[in-house]
Amino acid sequence: MDVPSAPPRENIPDFEDIGISAFTTTREAGSYDTLSGEPVRDVMLRWYGLRGFLQELAPRFATASQVHGTRVVEHDGVWEGWLRVSEADGHFAPRSGTAMAVTIADCVPVFLAHPEGAIALLHSGWRGTAARIIDRALAAFSRQGFAARDLRMHLGPAICGECYEVSAEVAQALTGIAAAPNREAASGRPHMDLRALIAGHAREAGVTRITTSPWCTRCDNALFFSHRAGDAGRQLAVMVAREPARVDSL
Ligand SMILES: [Zn+2]
Repeated sequence: MDVPSAPPRENIPDFEDIGISAFTTTREAGSYDTLSGEPVRDVMLRWYGLRGFLQELAPRFATASQVHGTRVVEHDGVWEGWLRVSEADGHFAPRSGTAMAVTIADCVPVFLAHPEGAIALLHSGWRGTAARIIDRALAAFSRQGFAARDLRMHLGPAICGECYEVSAEVAQALTGIAAAPNREAASGRPHMDLRALIAGHAREAGVTRITTSPWCTRCDNALFFSHRAGDAGRQLAVMVAREPARVDSL
């Protein structure tokens, strides 16, 4: 049987040994933004191609229209197919069989997994980071009996601290501290490292096993779409805990 091929991507190896596939698509895969000016057919063919690939690993595929909020949808059903949730920026599934994806282009894709197959995937820009969407996800794991200390976390390709210049208001929302003028930046505006902030929040909550992608969407703009670099395109972060029966067929 022909297995649909995966899109061009950067695999995240941290979860492979516990049966979890996680990756970020690259610029070469094309954009997955459904509201850009690109012809619908081109964008949807990419989505259908990805859906075909993921279908070999899990019967469910969860996505959402993202609003820079803190809602994490829990997928605990026995449905089958491709779900598009309204207004959510995170997905959580307590057991295998649900693939999930978020669109990103500077914001941080946050991958979380428990060795028993519970996973969560978040889209965390400055608003989601300031409002701590990470805490919502950790609470979802906790409600199902998965302790923070047993989780693995990966912070995927996102804008780096050198590239991410923000207003004093955004810096204060992120740190709770009024930002002093930044003498190192020509503009005097503060720089924020969203991934370092999210890692700090997760450590406070008890997560210890945290890895961070070496890629910056803006520094490595040839490889990834970046909103700040002027790209309209969006890549996808994808995560799936493979159903045990399907692992052997790979
Ligand atoms: Zn950078």
